Amino acid sequence: METTVALAGNPNSGKTCLFNELTGARQHVGNYPGVTVEKKEGKYSRNGHTIHIVDLPGTYSLTAYSVEEVVARDFLVNERPAVVIDVVDASNLERNLYLTVQFLEMGVPLAVALNMGDVAKKRGIEIDREKLSILFGVPVIPTIARSGKGKEEIMDAAVRIAREEKPRTPLIVSYGDDIDGALLEMEESIITNGFLTETYPARWIALKYLEMDEQILSKGQKQNPDVSAKLEDLTRRVSDHLQKTLNTYPEAIIADHRFGYINALVRQGVIKFRDHHDRLYASDKIDKVVTNRFLGPIIMVGVLMGLYHFTFTYSAVPVGWLESFFGWLGDAVSTHIPAGLLQSLVVSGIIDGAGGVLGFVPLIMLMFLGIALLEDSGYLARVAFMLDRVFRVFGLHGSSVMAYIVSGGIAGGCAVPGVMATRTLKSRRERLATLLTAPFMNCGAKLPVFALLIAAFFAENEVVMMLMITLISWLGALLVAKLLRSTVIKGESMPFVMELPPYRLPTFKGLAIHTWERTWQYIKKAGTVILGISIVLWAMMTFPGLPDSQLLEFENQRAAAKAAVSMEISREVESYEGKAVLSREASNLRNQLLGIDSREAEAALRNSTAGRIGTALERVSKWAGFDWRTNIALVGGLAAKEVVVSTLGTAYSLGTVDPEESRALSEILSKTPGWSPLAALSLIIFTIFYAPCFVTVVMIVRESGSWKWGMFSIAFNTLAAFILAAAVYQVGLVIGL
Ligand code: GDP
Ligand code: MG
Repeated sequence: METTVALAGNPNSGKTCLFNELTGARQHVGNYPGVTVEKKEGKYSRNGHTIHIVDLPGTYSLTAYSVEEVVARDFLVNERPAVVIDVVDASNLERNLYLTVQFLEMGVPLAVALNMGDVAKKRGIEIDREKLSILFGVPVIPTIARSGKGKEEIMDAAVRIAREEKPRTPLIVSYGDDIDGALLEMEESIITNGFLTETYPARWIALKYLEMDEQILSKGQKQNPDVSAKLEDLTRRVSDHLQKTLNTYPEAIIADHRFGYINALVRQGVIKFRDHHDRLYASDKIDKVVTNRFLGPIIMVGVLMGLYHFTFTYSAVPVGWLESFFGWLGDAVSTHIPAGLLQSLVVSGIIDGAGGVLGFVPLIMLMFLGIALLEDSGYLARVAFMLDRVFRVFGLHGSSVMAYIVSGGIAGGCAVPGVMATRTLKSRRERLATLLTAPFMNCGAKLPVFALLIAAFFAENEVVMMLMITLISWLGALLVAKLLRSTVIKGESMPFVMELPPYRLPTFKGLAIHTWERTWQYIKKAGTVILGISIVLWAMMTFPGLPDSQLLEFENQRAAAKAAVSMEISREVESYEGKAVLSREASNLRNQLLGIDSREAEAALRNSTAGRIGTALERVSKWAGFDWRTNIALVGGLAAKEVVVSTLGTAYSLGTVDPEESRALSEILSKTPGWSPLAALSLIIFTIFYAPCFVTVVMIVRESGSWKWGMFSIAFNTLAAFILAAAVYQVGLVIGL
């Protein structure tokens, strides 16, 4: 069969010139069937092979906006040329690459003719074509079409590509959180339904739906109206969302990110200008400072500290209100429900358990507001850009940064979408290393654990502590990634382009929506999943109760204490409601009775199912400074990390017998013997690194394609976390912290 090569490119890039040079006189001019766009076909011969060449109409894009675009696209899809030669005007590279990126996204076999090198040179533009070739993964050959220079080389490259049998993976450009999320969802139903996939890659179809491409839409509606309706529905949702948050359309965001991608390519040194002036746009000017090698990291740390300071400072008061509210609620319920199982369930299980998680809503909300501000303005993309250099050292990909940030790299994300976000990584090894380490980031579920421990033990240094927690988790994640990349998942790094979309001024409405969406997720989870788990754990901490013999023993102790004093004093204590002043003897008796009650409560908790598990684990966990109550909380945290807080709440609530004592968990912890700043630090470190929550493990199994990696992250992470926590605790003890 004859090989067909298509020439494509922007208008005036030199396609026709190249075509004439290649085919000489042997050409045929006609029209594409049904439309009046000129069609030129001809033959090129070299080394005895004849190649059929088609000159496609010039286009800037591959969306179905103009006849030329539709013709060019249909030709690519229906005729399937063995290779497309993209003729690119080197003197206008950025604009021309916009089309190149779309070819790569479509996954067509491609060779780039870097044309008009002479014009570019005259304008002082120098292009590193080898770099461009590596980053795109396609040959880039310099040509001067007008004189025919480079025509043999570009044809040789084209023939080489045409002979390659291996399937081409389409280029994946990231379009930001909102669109990437929608694309993933759409791709899934496209692939499972085999929707139009005989001609186009799944992601490309999804993109076309988001761009509301009429041609693809009508093709889709014909092939499978149900799937098409679903995709249109998703498109509408994303469209509405973007309209509300950023006041723009998916097409605009998609174009922005494509240009961002190209901009980043150019910044990687693909284009060098001999004279720099007036090539700096506003975004570039800001980036000169913000991503500067020295100033950039300083600004980044400053921004993080500012965010943490803002979050902790302004959330302190409302968090206090909520704490008082739940305290009041617990007391009110205690007076209305008689003492017993029901009261214990409502007060200790629900209010002190799940309520404790809800108490952190103001903090979570402010943190999300700050992150939304960084994200909507485009600053987060700069963070990723700067960390790219660091990540390479650890065998990771620059786009791992985004996966980390989504997982809670700054604080308050979620590893589930984080693991999913690794899909933008092309190399399987780098992807695996990223998705196994992303759960080390500080997701929104770990945040209340840290907030609780910081409030209890490091209230003076909350910002520094939070920054330290962030650094520890990133450092740990990177070191583990390096370990994995130099042992079990060894291999080369893929060339990669970090994109920089332009800065945008965030809108108030956009920030409000982004903040609320995420905060609502947190509230919903606390009110459903966490509530359910709290109740289960409450039951595990309550049953089985103490055996009768022990109950009788405590009863006897109480009776003995009362018998030792006069009847009046006993009665005085019984009728005490916290208002009157007790006599000295009565106060003595009261303290004695409270002591017996709390020993009984502790004995009951220890005797419960969860208590026994926690106590059994103490033999090992004592090395890291965790007592049996903490062990219960950490086991509960395997389901979801918020459960660490709710379980500690329930455990200490079950143990609290004096109604006058504060209900605020942070205050209780800071006063409980056995707890210390060192033990809290050890617990923080363990919480950062130990096994991912259940849902994340499921996601890891799904995305890595093997349950082994899920098991690996449970076992490896927990072991590593324990070794680290124990090391910190033991060293701390030795140096007397
Ligand atoms: P098309 O629209 O892509 O088919 O572009 P044409 O082949 O018609 O070329 C547009 C213009 O660019 C013509 O005037 C060509 O002579 C000129 N041209 C094409 N290639 C080169 C080149 O490599 N160097 C220079 N200086 N001019 C070129
Ligand atoms: Mg032409």
